[in-house]
Amino acid sequence: MLTATAPLTINEQLTQQAAGWRRELHKIPELSFDLYKTQEYIINLLKHWNIAYDLGYGKTGIVVTIKGKKQGDTIAFRCDMDALPMQDACGKSWASTHEGCSHSCGHDGHMAITLAVVKHLAAYNEFSGCVKILFQPSEENGQGAKAMIKDGLYKDHPYTQLYGFHNMPRLQDGTIQVRYGATTGAGEVFTLSVTGKSGHSSVPHKCINPISAACEIVNGWNNITTNIKNDMAIISTCKLNGGTAMNGIPEQALAGGTMRYFEAHIADYMRDNMHQIAKEVCKKYGAVYDLLFEVLCPATINTIEHTNTVIECAKQLYGAENVVTDVPASPGGEDMQFFVTDKVDGACWFMIGTKGTNTHTASFDFDDTCIHRAASMLVNIVYNRLAK
Ligand SMILES: [Zn+2]
Ligand SMILES: [Zn+2]
Repeated sequence: MLTATAPLTINEQLTQQAAGWRRELHKIPELSFDLYKTQEYIINLLKHWNIAYDLGYGKTGIVVTIKGKKQGDTIAFRCDMDALPMQDACGKSWASTHEGCSHSCGHDGHMAITLAVVKHLAAYNEFSGCVKILFQPSEENGQGAKAMIKDGLYKDHPYTQLYGFHNMPRLQDGTIQVRYGATTGAGEVFTLSVTGKSGHSSVPHKCINPISAACEIVNGWNNITTNIKNDMAIISTCKLNGGTAMNGIPEQALAGGTMRYFEAHIADYMRDNMHQIAKEVCKKYGAVYDLLFEVLCPATINTIEHTNTVIECAKQLYGAENVVTDVPASPGGEDMQFFVTDKVDGACWFMIGTKGTNTHTASFDFDDTCIHRAASMLVNIVYNRLAK
């Protein structure tokens, strides 16, 4: 039996330090798997603190191991690290120094919170078991978790339960929101290519304009999901490219975007209808199309036992009135579920309500005022699960 002498909240000095790291990380946002400066920044801190880590998972991922004073279970926390290919318009002195790249999803904040937890737990390791921190690249395009697992992460660093979180400015500040079961949707990308017949812009009747056909297809897709009630069904076309000259009709137009859903039959329905519309439009124009789908991430599933742990800890730190469980599942995609191997008992991904503009917005900046409670939340989960 351990005595509960370890503090369950991180201290003010560590909170301030974490806000400092967060702003430093905000200056150096990097994309996808190429998080070299970010990785270096984190490694430097870990070395300085004398904390064990392992590299070689998902190119720039980092796995941190903090052992407790006694043997026991192993808990893993997932922390995403990557930024977005967007211009930073946060207007702060710590704005991005990388052109066209910004931490508009707040993963800088997630890293700072998690680093504070690492430092705290290393100093107060009065728990029975082990904590693994999975610093993950490439969350935004749903590739990182899969890649880390493929590189042997689970074989080298097994764990029995997994937790993850995300800042959510669209939710009430000062709340923790968590739901049982499916909590983030499955995400799938689609790519459409329409091939027409190229020619001079002065003789469009002798050409088949693939841009016109692609526009009609994309507009048609917007009506597919209106028939689906009471279940998530989203088709968002986010890219449309075609042509290079102002006076030449191109041969090909390309479109791409994301589908989101919880249920597989909804995905089938959307895919079938997207094909049907593309087929009809191309027949009319005399064009040819190709439509490809690729699943990015499965739905994130919160298991009852582990969600109960999160709720219990959140009630203590945020107050029962600030713990919201009747929250709708998030349409946003998450790839955390790839870390839930068949040997993992369960997982929970929760949302932290924060101040400011929504994520994926150019003016977004992470809300540092959430750091103290969010980091303490993770510390509480450790002591709740590993205090035996
Ligand atoms: Zn994001
Ligand atoms: Zn994010």
